[in-house]
Amino acid sequence: KKIIFSGVQPSGQLTLGNYLGALKNWVDLQDDYRCIYSVVDLHAITVRQEPAKLRRQILETYALLLACGVDPQKSLLFIQSQVSTHAELAWILNCYTQFGELSRMTQFKDKSARHADNVNAGLFTYPSLMAADILLYQADLVPVGADQKQHLELSRDIATRMNGLYNNVFTVPEPYIPKAGARVMSLQDPTKKMSKSDENVNAYVAILDKPDDIMRKFKRAVTDSEAKVCRGEGKDGVNNLIGIYAAVTGKTEEQVEAEFEGKGYGDFKAAVGEAVVETLRPVREKFEQYMGDKAFLEQCYREGAEKAYAVSRRTLGKVQRKIGFLSR
Ligand code: ATP
Ligand code: MG
Repeated sequence: KKIIFSGVQPSGQLTLGNYLGALKNWVDLQDDYRCIYSVVDLHAITVRQEPAKLRRQILETYALLLACGVDPQKSLLFIQSQVSTHAELAWILNCYTQFGELSRMTQFKDKSARHADNVNAGLFTYPSLMAADILLYQADLVPVGADQKQHLELSRDIATRMNGLYNNVFTVPEPYIPKAGARVMSLQDPTKKMSKSDENVNAYVAILDKPDDIMRKFKRAVTDSEAKVCRGEGKDGVNNLIGIYAAVTGKTEEQVEAEFEGKGYGDFKAAVGEAVVETLRPVREKFEQYMGDKAFLEQCYREGAEKAYAVSRRTLGKVQRKIGFLSR
């Protein structure tokens, strides 16, 4: 089986965008691939986090992955900071990554502009940590949204460079584009992607939002003045709602347009809200169950970390040998 690696940052409440664009696929991939999934908290501290809140978000993100259907019997599921090989390999890769390469990363440029008071070295070297995450498991495929493509490209360059110098160190990972890669846009500015770190809570639907909040957010979603439920140029808001409704009901976008022909935006938004509420309801219920069983969660992430360490240690050992370190 081919190996897949993917990670999610515990940097906020996971959104409907994360669910439709990533988590739902993660679950489906489990039968056909060897999947390795991580809550990447080392990445999350590249922007300032409040400790108590971060601790809660790490656990909640982990529980939410289980609630969505990531199965620790089938897949490797762990918390990044609990597996020391990630930081160790990241340091080595840092020494094989050029300042100029990292300077070209658009996420660094964006985030350092947005967090001008904290442009730390970790934010700059984020991509070499991401490369370590992927290369430690010799991943063949990495599901990435458009936002992570440039970073994956750099991971490939680093892997190829190390292979050239030391011969056969890493599998060079390929991007994996899921078949139905739903890209969910902000409900308040539908030209931007929905993001969990958006400062406007009405811009995103969190997977754990209460039904009333979900309905309210869809009711307020930005649309246009045409009042016709159909896709089209300049109808980003409606395009987005149609995409969401199609994704959660399994209908095609054409079917959605037909269903709402002659109906107004009010009816349509309510229908989208209800469909999303029903899709997320079982996830929220399972999440509550997992959060109520801390002992189980703890056992689960401890086992995950142990297994991840054992697998990744092999790659790290190989790299250490190849670059000239003594074996322990
Ligand atoms: P942040 O704003 O902190 O970067 P994020 O919402 O972008 O948060 P990430 O942790 O960066 O979330 O990404 C987790 C996964 O979710 C990635 O695979 C990413 O491509 C995917 N993803 C994020 N936002 C969306 C979206 N709006 N639509 C579809 N997929 C998304
Ligand atoms: Mg992101």
